[in-house]
Amino acid sequence: MTQTLPNPGADGDRAVGYAGACDVAIVGGGLVGTSLAVALQDTPLRVALIEAAPPPQSEASWDERCIALNDASRRIFLALGVWEALRAEAEPILATHISERGRFGVSHFEAAEAGLEALGYNVPLRAIGKALERRVSQAPRLALFRPARVCGLARGDAGVRLDLETSGGRRTLEAKLAVAADGARSALREWLGIEAQTRDYAQQAIVTAVRLSRPHRGVAYERFTPDGPLALIPKPGLAMSLVWTTPQAWVERRMGWSEAEFLAAAQEAFGGRLGRFLELGRRWAYPLTRVLSERLTAPRVVFVGNAAQTLHPVAAQGFNLGLRDVAALAELLAEAADPGEAELLSAYERRRAQDRDRVADLTDLMVRAFSNRAPVLAQARHWGLVAVDLLPPLRRAVLQQHLGHLGLPRVS
Ligand SMILES: Cc1cc2nc3c(=O)[nH]c(=O)nc-3n(C[C@H](O)[C@H](O)[C@H](O)COP(=O)(O)OP(=O)(O)OC[C@H]3O[C@@H](n4cnc5c(N)ncnc54)[C@H](O)[C@@H]3O)c2cc1C
Repeated sequence: MTQTLPNPGADGDRAVGYAGACDVAIVGGGLVGTSLAVALQDTPLRVALIEAAPPPQSEASWDERCIALNDASRRIFLALGVWEALRAEAEPILATHISERGRFGVSHFEAAEAGLEALGYNVPLRAIGKALERRVSQAPRLALFRPARVCGLARGDAGVRLDLETSGGRRTLEAKLAVAADGARSALREWLGIEAQTRDYAQQAIVTAVRLSRPHRGVAYERFTPDGPLALIPKPGLAMSLVWTTPQAWVERRMGWSEAEFLAAAQEAFGGRLGRFLELGRRWAYPLTRVLSERLTAPRVVFVGNAAQTLHPVAAQGFNLGLRDVAALAELLAEAADPGEAELLSAYERRRAQDRDRVADLTDLMVRAFSNRAPVLAQARHWGLVAVDLLPPLRRAVLQQHLGHLGLPRVS
């Protein structure tokens, strides 16, 4: 492989004139791939980021969702120098309240018991995207291929060769390590013949915002109902993000309701704890599947974020977990002589497997346990919530999991 450094060009396709070899090629510039590019920018590694979508042109380019970042993610973003840019738009989550409609069992956590100012922060995805984008635009050594789609991969002992379709035609890029950050339907995973366990939940998440008649006081609510969980997460002022998991058969109807009908139904499902639901934002629907890659690495390739594991959003863990993938990988890469060496890949797999299996299993358990109407399970759920609330060791374990601290590498 050649050793030529990137030759950044103008905005958009900074890879103009790039000679075709790097140390680490990140395939996919979503939140996770871009976070990794930022994490590696102060290392001596020559990094390329390849993203199929064109650069965001305006505010409207971003997904309208908010992302609930846990404390571990705040720490990682702080270490990456991204947190300051998010702070102004990050609404603190001071407490969480988990309950089931029609039952009195409740779990309640407060930031103070963890010795923290906040358990986490609800941040517009747009703000995270913009903050990462700014950092990427200030990284002169990063070779940015965008829009460019990776359309083929070949592996040798010393590295990989990626085939790229760019606006200027086809080109190849060699790398010692390819990082698959290409999302739930990872093409890299498919080309490498790595199996994935897939579960279609036959549900969609309807995401919107509501304005309330009472202040939320920084409390995030997860309310399980027979018709799917409904989460309300603090936004500035009297607003909250609303994520309503909806059985597939009802999605069209719920999406088609008038604002008044939707508000009345959401209010009925949630109850009166936050006063009246007064106003509704725009609605978006996201199909929900779980995709777990059977491997986190293959020779000269590593999987991060949704390409490694795509989870149901019920516990707001997907991006938080992906960011811990990034932190662990960045820490290993900073010390590696060869970024694609087998020892590094096994170390990554060892470090990430436990955290990701635990979070994936717990999230799936929550979805399935709370989607089941059998009376025996209703009793188990009820006592489960009571036990989590009252038993100190269980409470501590759940809190640590919630904060993301159990999977936090040394870097943060
Ligand atoms: C309704 C909902 C609410 C959520 N809420 C939360 C939350 O509160 N907290 C939380 O932690 N997580 C949450 N998540 C999960 C979170 O959104 C995802 O985990 C995260 O966005 C995944 O990012 P990613 O970069 O791994 O993948 P993606 O966002 O899928 O990015 C993959 C990128 O790869 C690019 N790409 C794909 N193929 C190629 C190719 N061949 N060549 C070049 N580029 C390619 C794509 O264009 C894309 O930009 C939520 C998810 C949903 C659906």
